[in-house]
Amino acid sequence: MKKNLIAPCGMNCGVCIHYLFMQHDVNKQGFHRKYCPGCIPRGNNCTHMGDRCDLLGQGKVRFCFECKDYPCKRLKTLDRRYRTKYHMSMVENLEYIRQHGEETFLKKEAEKWRCKKCGGVVCCHNGLCLECQMDVLLRNKRYRWNED
Ligand code: SF4
Ligand code: SF4
Ligand SMILES: [Zn+2]
Repeated sequence: MKKNLIAPCGMNCGVCIHYLFMQHDVNKQGFHRKYCPGCIPRGNNCTHMGDRCDLLGQGKVRFCFECKDYPCKRLKTLDRRYRTKYHMSMVENLEYIRQHGEETFLKKEAEKWRCKKCGGVVCCHNGLCLECQMDVLLRNKRYRWNED
């Protein structure tokens, strides 16, 4: 996992479905999904928040915690959605990065999302490792976290 995959809002793009779809080039297997190289690499800064926040949209802060309004209402709403559905929290990530730095955060993330079967990366959006569980996704293209 790489530093430039940490989005300003605290998202780890390395576990995002659009990033992992790109890495595994799933469209070659009959999918029609959006690929994304990550907020920072694509030069857009945070796509979750960029169109709703000028500071992020113009790349003026590296992380939301540098902003005087942090954590703003929009970030909290996004955070709530991710806590409920995707087993992660942007605000928790940001707090961790602020206290321990990006390197340590990435080590923790690698541990958290490591596939127990093959060592691949588990996606936060569907709970699948595309390295060894592609068959699950092929059976149900809308599969989300243990719901078949
Ligand atoms: S879709 Fe958003 S969260 Fe996913 S990799 Fe792209 S910028 Fe990151
Ligand atoms: S915390 Fe600040 S920088 Fe982050 S989305 Fe909210 S207003 Fe924008
Ligand atoms: Zn795996």
